[in-house]
Amino acid sequence: MSGKEHGDSGDSGLTVYSCPMHADVRSDRPGTCPKCGMQLAPSKVTDEPHKHGGPP
Ligand SMILES: [Zn+2]
Repeated sequence: MSGKEHGDSGDSGLTVYSCPMHADVRSDRPGTCPKCGMQLAPSKVTDEPHKHGGPP
């Protein structure tokens, strides 16, 4: 194996950190947005697709 960092033993759920101002800025670890410098906010990501109601 190569280029592998210390893996965290997260077994359930995945937490991603994203900038509240830039949705395209996401990281798998806490940090700051390279665009605006704001602290990335953690958000849980689930594999299950979230259905949202029916047709408009
Ligand atoms: Zn930002």
